[in-house]
Amino acid sequence: MTANALLDLQALDVETRQLNHRRAALEQRTKLDEALAEQARRQVEIDTVAAARLEVSSRQKKVEADAQLVSDKADADESKLYGGEVTGLKDLEALQHEIAMLRERQSGFEDLALEAMMEAEELQGQVASLEGARAAIDDVIAGLREEIAQAEEEIDVQLAAVAAKRTEVAATADPDLAAEYERREPAFGASTVVRFDGSNCTGCPSSMPAMEVDRIKHLDGDAPADCQECGRIVLR
Ligand SMILES: [Zn+2]
Repeated sequence: MTANALLDLQALDVETRQLNHRRAALEQRTKLDEALAEQARRQVEIDTVAAARLEVSSRQKKVEADAQLVSDKADADESKLYGGEVTGLKDLEALQHEIAMLRERQSGFEDLALEAMMEAEELQGQVASLEGARAAIDDVIAGLREEIAQAEEEIDVQLAAVAAKRTEVAATADPDLAAEYERREPAFGASTVVRFDGSNCTGCPSSMPAMEVDRIKHLDGDAPADCQECGRIVLR
């Protein structure tokens, strides 16, 4: 039955299109896009806080080095003070004064180093908590990818079954008619092959002119006809 074969081909093509659409429009894809965007946002946050932490750490190292430098200088002065190299009273007083100044500066640098260390710890805590949140999103993404892969696999099995059935049906169709159908299908889709209901082509948007009705009614045999109005294949 050539006519039925055409309708079957059309039904199978509709099914293929629906399956492909379902595959492309899986709701998990939207969720995945959202999760990926959130992952990227969180990564930016992590990078920003981590950069701030690095900056604070290098500030800490710098003031620690400054404290060490000043401390070394004060140590050297103290050696001088107690080593007996300096004997003049005024020189001794000046040295003591300088040592006091240096110790004060050292203490100032040490306070800054402590502040920076605490700030760095606080930022490190923020990084850890942000990384925890990012890990949760990573899990969501992995889960969605798995769901998508599974859904795709299921749809692909159905697509393969439809394709196999289509090959079977196509083998039973009249080759010329099948070629005609293939040629028109991209334009007409699910209504490439339509029925003639006795007075109209069911694919035509408006009524068929009487002359065209008459022509189709009086065609020889029962082979499908072309609708001169809309260009569809009309089964009689
Ligand atoms: Zn028509």
